[in-house]
Amino acid sequence: MSTRADSLIELEKQFGAHNYLPLPVVLTRGEGIYVWDIDNKQYIDMMSAYSAVSHGHCHPKLVAALTSQAQTLAVVSRAFYTKTLGQFLRKACELTGYDKALPMNSGAEAVETAIKAARKWAYHYKGIEDGNAEIIVCEGNFHGRTTTIVSFSSDYQYRDGFSPYTPGFRMIPYNDHEALEEAINPNTAAFLVEPIQGEAGIRLPSAGYLQKCAEICRKNNVLLICDEIQTGLGRTGKLLASHHDEVQPDAIVLGKALGGGLLPVSLFLSREEVMNVFTPGDHGSTFGGNQLAASVGLTALEVLYEENLIDNSAELGRYFLERLKTLNYPFIKDIRGKGLFIGIEIADPKITARQICLELLTAGLLSKETHGTVIRLAPPLIITKQQLDDAFDIIKKVFENVATHA
Ligand SMILES: *Cc1c(COP(=O)(O)O)cnc(C)c1O
Repeated sequence: MSTRADSLIELEKQFGAHNYLPLPVVLTRGEGIYVWDIDNKQYIDMMSAYSAVSHGHCHPKLVAALTSQAQTLAVVSRAFYTKTLGQFLRKACELTGYDKALPMNSGAEAVETAIKAARKWAYHYKGIEDGNAEIIVCEGNFHGRTTTIVSFSSDYQYRDGFSPYTPGFRMIPYNDHEALEEAINPNTAAFLVEPIQGEAGIRLPSAGYLQKCAEICRKNNVLLICDEIQTGLGRTGKLLASHHDEVQPDAIVLGKALGGGLLPVSLFLSREEVMNVFTPGDHGSTFGGNQLAASVGLTALEVLYEENLIDNSAELGRYFLERLKTLNYPFIKDIRGKGLFIGIEIADPKITARQICLELLTAGLLSKETHGTVIRLAPPLIITKQQLDDAFDIIKKVFENVATHA
């Protein structure tokens, strides 16, 4: 590493909170699936900012939407109407099949919106006594970092030191529909679930799991809310990961790729009855649904179809997973995924996923471990077959090396 890179890393460490442990690389430029560091070394980005950069870095059409909007009108708050918000929300509703959408910025804010909607719906429509509504969540969940959301995390580190916790959540095992049926009681407002658990290590439930959950929820008048922040917008080879099970949840949460890799843009979408619990003054966000975000969000949704990114994710995801599965090394426990959302699980306790990510970095490929043992591969959805072959060659070389030194 150059001394320039070193000193910038030191600067960040000195003045920044240490709430992340970044890989030691200073990135300065991005284009498509590639990023370059301060010493002009090129990398294939197989991380895509946790799937926020599905459209690739600095997509020309998205950058054009951003810059022209920034030069015209960016933020006026929701105290007034603007030109593009309605069009953005209509597009999102039409594509996903929901009646209404509520814009926020970060994913966690949209999840908080879902929690508020579910609770208010439970009091207004289900007749649950005020203060008693419960939301069922799954072990291994990741829904964000607010105090309420970490209150129902099963990850010790996400919670430790941040008590007292918000009550009203009940935890069940993931991929266990019978546990859902048993956990439901007259106070259950909603079941909040990721169709595939991303942060937990690309954990895929059995086929039909979500379908069974949907039936159980319908039978018990419980809202099914899917967190599609990471799995949505083509990441798993369908517009929404819940579509793999042919399920239309009562509500969903979108974020990450909705901002086209440029801005934080999130949405809570639901059918009319649920969204109607909100009245003026109930809930909001200064920046939520601002004109700049609406323009970028609308363009991000358009580009998804114009460039066929969902089908590309399905086809190339299948191809890439098949190739990866030919990698037979004793330190690999499992290779799994859907679309371009792939996890490689490491079996050998002497080899950490981070160690492999560091070697991949040196070899020119960006990736990030999740939960110590899983390497996440989630490239921009604009990636080509040739580029995936290049990525495969790097991964194979690194794995070969790890295997001989293990
Ligand atoms: C990233 C993520 C979130 C949180 O989004 P932020 O924008 O970081 O607040 C919530 N749920 C899931 C499934 C995520 O992957």
